[in-house]
Amino acid sequence: MQDGRSADVVVVGAGFAGLAAAHELAGAGARVAVAEARDRVGGRALTRLLPDGTQLDLGGQWVGPSQHEMRELIERHGVRTYPTPEHGRAVVDYEGALVDAMPAEVTALYGELDRLSREVPADAPWTHPQARCWDGRTLASWLDERTSDPAVARTVARQTAGALLSLDAADASLLETLFYLVSGDGLDVLAGFAGGAQSDRLVGGPQELAGRMAAALPAGTIHLGAPVRRIEHGAGGAVVHAGALRLEAARVIVAIPPVLAGRIEYDPPLPPRRDGLTQRMAAGYALKTHAVYREPFWRARGLSGISFSSAGVLTETVDNTPPGGPSAVLTSFVYGADAHRLRTRPPGERRRAVLERLAGLFGGEARDPVDYVEFDWCAEPWTRGCFSGHLAPGAWTGFGPALRAPVGVLHWAGTETATRWNGYFDGAVQSGRRAAAEVLAAG
Ligand SMILES: Cc1cc2nc3c(=O)[nH]c(=O)nc-3n(C[C@H](O)[C@H](O)[C@H](O)COP(=O)(O)OP(=O)(O)OC[C@H]3O[C@@H](n4cnc5c(N)ncnc54)[C@H](O)[C@@H]3O)c2cc1C
Repeated sequence: MQDGRSADVVVVGAGFAGLAAAHELAGAGARVAVAEARDRVGGRALTRLLPDGTQLDLGGQWVGPSQHEMRELIERHGVRTYPTPEHGRAVVDYEGALVDAMPAEVTALYGELDRLSREVPADAPWTHPQARCWDGRTLASWLDERTSDPAVARTVARQTAGALLSLDAADASLLETLFYLVSGDGLDVLAGFAGGAQSDRLVGGPQELAGRMAAALPAGTIHLGAPVRRIEHGAGGAVVHAGALRLEAARVIVAIPPVLAGRIEYDPPLPPRRDGLTQRMAAGYALKTHAVYREPFWRARGLSGISFSSAGVLTETVDNTPPGGPSAVLTSFVYGADAHRLRTRPPGERRRAVLERLAGLFGGEARDPVDYVEFDWCAEPWTRGCFSGHLAPGAWTGFGPALRAPVGVLHWAGTETATRWNGYFDGAVQSGRRAAAEVLAAG
């Protein structure tokens, strides 16, 4: 690393990827500057405490047992976790009827997707012998071929493209879907509560962990309110323009969503393949809403608060009540085009639609919450969608090799670049650590 610069390495973005990268680099003795556009760290982790202390996680919230990178950080920074409540039965609404289990044809298609996904190499999906075929078709067209029953196709689409990738099946390539499944240990783990990806929450939320990670970095490392809009780069290093700051460094790790990485001005411009990649990696969209009640009234009816619906305004719900309250919370999720349609309705109408559906699932008390909270990640200038970005049909085979390949002194991190738990906090941490290792190896 060279002297006479503001830092050895500039990290762009203080989400989990950027913070993890900064930790690895600082731990190895490098001088690091982190430029963060917002006035806070944590990125897509955002926790709000209601006046009575009830914790709402407006962004990401869960960690699962096989998310080893996050587990290690949680342990290291002394953050406590608690299991997602599962008191009682889940509600499964299949085409307007409450059923005990999904039809066999639905579960058979889940099984087939899972089986195919295990063939996909998560570090290079474009190398699979079927990659071109699977990349060139959407999950929707694959489902149309596999079943003549539109309800079956819609259910599988909602549970996979929707609930996991926050996309419509017509926007998700089969290859991207399979990659996502294999990167997250398969459908059962991805969709599961106890033992699955929705196993535990963090006391204080993931933002508490992000705050502790930031506090453990050397003083002055993180620059808040420093949006990076331009990066000049060459063999000798880079100059990063971050708000009023001009940061010089030997190397840069860009740890932000690809859709935003593509909006930075690079001088010289990035190679066409890298630029083409960010043009084709749009963010999905999920609308997550929280209805707050005095009591978890659904539990008295033997219901867990967990639901899945094959149709209707809400795809999924979950009991998000923290242990010991003080209030009870039902959190709902809407995905893809359904979410975009809902967010364009006036706030009062939107709230009524969500609460009416909750009443249908759990009882009339759901119509009268003491509070109702939404957060629109699509409208956030420093996120612009959620849960994460996905390569469009055809893009893995055309542009996939550019996903992680450094461009000179520029390195790429962020959950969208992860090979394991892509789209999740765990993938963000993996990506930051991987990019830091690249920088350290470059000397
Ligand atoms: C509603 C929702 C629910 C989710 N649920 C879960 C869950 O339960 N479990 C789970 O594991 N994951 C979940 N996720 C996904 C998880 O939040 C993300 O995978 C993870 O936070 C991504 O981290 P990151 O560091 O890659 O990106 P980000 O968190 O997006 O961090 C990027 C940072 O860069 C900053 N930035 C952007 N552009 C610039 C710029 N030009 N200059 C400087 N700074 C910039 C941003 O402000 C941000 O702080 C969810 C996400 C959402 C939104």
